[in-house]
Amino acid sequence: TTVSRMLSENQSEGFVRVRGARENNLRNVNVDVPRDAIVAFTGVSGSGKSSLAFGTIFAEAQRRFFESVAPYARRLIQQGHTPHVDEITGLPPAVALQQRRGTPSSRSSVGTVTTLSNSLRMMYSRAGIYPTDAAGRLESDSFSPNTAMGACPRCHGLGLAHTVSEESMVLDATLSIRDGAITAWPGAWQGKNLRDIVAVLGYDIDVPWKDLSRADRDWILFTEEQPVVEVVPQRDRIAKPYQGRFWSAKSFVLHTLADSKSPNVRQRVLRYVDTGPCPDCGGSGLKPEALAVTVAGQSIAALNALPMTALAEILRPIVSGNAASSEVAVTLAGDLLRRIDVLLELGLGYLALGRSTPTLSPGEMQRLRIATQLRSGLFGVIYVLDEPSAGLHPADAEPLLLVLEQLKLSGNSVFVVEHNMDVVGRADWVVDVGPRAGEGGGEVLYSGPTAGLAAVDASVTRRYLFAQDREPVARGELRHPLGWLGLTDVTRHNLQGLDAQIPLGVLTAVTGVSGSGKSTLVSQVLAEAVGQHLHPEPDDAPVLDLGDPDADIERAERPKVGAVTGLEAVDRLVQVDQKPIGRTPRSNLATYTGLFDAVRATFAATDEARARGFTASRFSFNVAGGRCETCLGEGFVAVGLLFLPGSYAPCPDCGGSRYNPDTLEVTYRGKNIAEVLGLTVDAALVFLTDVTVAARSLETLREVGLGYLRLGQPATELSGGEAQRIKLATELQRARRGHTLYLLDEPTTGLHPADVDLLLHQLGRLVDAGNTVVVVEHEMDVVAAADWVIDLGPGGGDAGGRIVAAGTPKAVSTHPTSRTAPYLKRRLA
Ligand code: ADP
Ligand code: ADP
Ligand code: ZN
Ligand code: ZN
Repeated sequence: TTVSRMLSENQSEGFVRVRGARENNLRNVNVDVPRDAIVAFTGVSGSGKSSLAFGTIFAEAQRRFFESVAPYARRLIQQGHTPHVDEITGLPPAVALQQRRGTPSSRSSVGTVTTLSNSLRMMYSRAGIYPTDAAGRLESDSFSPNTAMGACPRCHGLGLAHTVSEESMVLDATLSIRDGAITAWPGAWQGKNLRDIVAVLGYDIDVPWKDLSRADRDWILFTEEQPVVEVVPQRDRIAKPYQGRFWSAKSFVLHTLADSKSPNVRQRVLRYVDTGPCPDCGGSGLKPEALAVTVAGQSIAALNALPMTALAEILRPIVSGNAASSEVAVTLAGDLLRRIDVLLELGLGYLALGRSTPTLSPGEMQRLRIATQLRSGLFGVIYVLDEPSAGLHPADAEPLLLVLEQLKLSGNSVFVVEHNMDVVGRADWVVDVGPRAGEGGGEVLYSGPTAGLAAVDASVTRRYLFAQDREPVARGELRHPLGWLGLTDVTRHNLQGLDAQIPLGVLTAVTGVSGSGKSTLVSQVLAEAVGQHLHPEPDDAPVLDLGDPDADIERAERPKVGAVTGLEAVDRLVQVDQKPIGRTPRSNLATYTGLFDAVRATFAATDEARARGFTASRFSFNVAGGRCETCLGEGFVAVGLLFLPGSYAPCPDCGGSRYNPDTLEVTYRGKNIAEVLGLTVDAALVFLTDVTVAARSLETLREVGLGYLRLGQPATELSGGEAQRIKLATELQRARRGHTLYLLDEPTTGLHPADVDLLLHQLGRLVDAGNTVVVVEHEMDVVAAADWVIDLGPGGGDAGGRIVAAGTPKAVSTHPTSRTAPYLKRRLA
């Protein structure tokens, strides 16, 4: 049986033996990786680390697992691919904890992914204090807004509701109804119709709105009555009398929001509603009966909103018996507390259980899942993780290592793809892949105990791993600020009345432990303040992204900023973030950077294309004509796996080439358009050297370390870091005048230290061209190379949100209490 086979393999020799691995760029790799150890997979970006750890080892373990599950259960599991490998022996089952953002669902929260919410609900159900008039104990599910039993009937558990008020629907109370006082009513004929009906009903439509009685105004705006009256149109003599139905402004708005199929119409009426916490449940999404149950005097909604550090302090007295509590309460609270303590150790104490997961960074999400695994009780499995240190301040790397250590001690193997040399240095074993990216990589340069890598000349990693080999950051002259951008009295999340000065014309690094407020300050407040200055919202601008509840939430909590000064110096804002460059396989690097336009024009200019009358659009896979119509040019077809959106399989007709056979007959220098999309950036640079515009784009892509990517690699296959570097390259290839403010959140994620050097060089180019660059960073090489540092903290959440130190790297590195200072100091000459 499978189990006994696994057991006997487990006992073999303690190694996972990989033979003949050829996934992606791997060159027939043979490697033995120890089990029951922490193993770091290292190498420059694109060298093949993930292809080995995830694409081969994890994929094979998953494939075997898939074969061993009952057929009816298979369709519930997302099947990976069959890796290109001759043989793997000694392979236990594997669990991958990747950082890819899950499907954004605003209903998933810190509490649900850690399953802490289940326990908390159980505690309220079994050990909560019920009001004396309560009918009986509630089931656990009644404390969840995500169940039919628990959801608040008004907002269906979402916690958000659209509300209307006189202020939101009547924008100018000095107007009469005839002149359009009720802004929320529709325009054109429908509006006139309603106005006529109001007149027939006996209201004065010619006095200013504000002069109508309170009762009249309330009825016209809010009534749910819908009288039908005979209307004689006054404005049009030929029109016949008709029966008109009255709609109050509120009924009209809510009805349109609920029923209109037209996004434009819905957009229009959304301007007359306030979107905020649901008035019935106060935003908790729960029914009143559930909210009336308390533990330690607080409702479950209140505990859900507390940072876990505070929640732990409430549970502690219950567990220690200091609070008069029942035996059940002690047991349940004890279980919760033990699990929360692990999260506190991982530096996540600033998060609340109710925090929705789409607002978490991928690194925070992964650490939540790592902590959850500690309790899974699994042993004898391999955990495969990508960059668990992403988003972690160096000061927080220690607790992370302890948790990885615990996973190992419970009898598991921990394989990490990692760039952070503090973590790599502490691993038991290193598998270094390289020497370079793409075709220049794909070999295992070293596999052995970490210290042994010091002797491997070909390894790029070696130069960064061993302190004695590591030079301090060679930085250029400090640049001097050309001016300052001042933000005063900033209030959002944990920033409470913060004042910040951001220097213009230099490279600034914003640092601080996880949760200290860096992203809030840079990616949200600063971005919105500058964005609003550059593009003030016109009155009729679409207000929100329809159908996206997060957009509602974001709008409900716009930052408050006092004065902003120095904005006049900035004429453009670019956020180079890690969001995907597209959500379907239809976007790729070639289309995003625009270089594909030049390639298509080149194909259209060939004799063969001209003879057939093919224009540039024939070579697009996004419009009918040249593309394969089976997959509509995607090269993939979505497979309708139950519950599993986003699974793709190659198109059966074009085999993934995206084009129809006629189009593929046209070639340029011996390659058809699909083959060109299959080239890596490095190869295309040679192949397209005569296509000047494309070559320039390709050159910048290579300069940001993306030479290994294929032109047609679908956006869905790119990592966040790769997407970010494509955006950066797209910016670099445009020669621009004026002063741009660039904001980057952790641009070094997924980058080997050698690639960090490349990135720094590119950021330097942007600054030297007269622009301002602000990066949120943990990588001390970047911080040391910056001209200015703003260190937030001292802690995360409520313990942070203040500027601890600001100044040159040197000045910040000597600050007595900054937690960044000691790490920065080590990297300065
Ligand atoms: P690393 O993890 O070291 O950054 P990867 O294993 O992700 O490197 O990539 C190694 C090589 O394989 C790169 O040239 C990359 O472009 C290529 N590659 C990665 N994923 C795919 C894929 N799904 N299809 C084809 N090539 C891929
Ligand atoms: P950093 O970037 O330094 O890790 P953040 O700016 O992400 O810190 O977070 C600062 C504080 O604001 C934390 O307490 C965090 O939980 C909170 N926070 C961040 N984003 C949100 C959000 N969308 N909703 C609620 N709280 C948030
Ligand atoms: Zn509600
Ligand atoms: Zn097709």
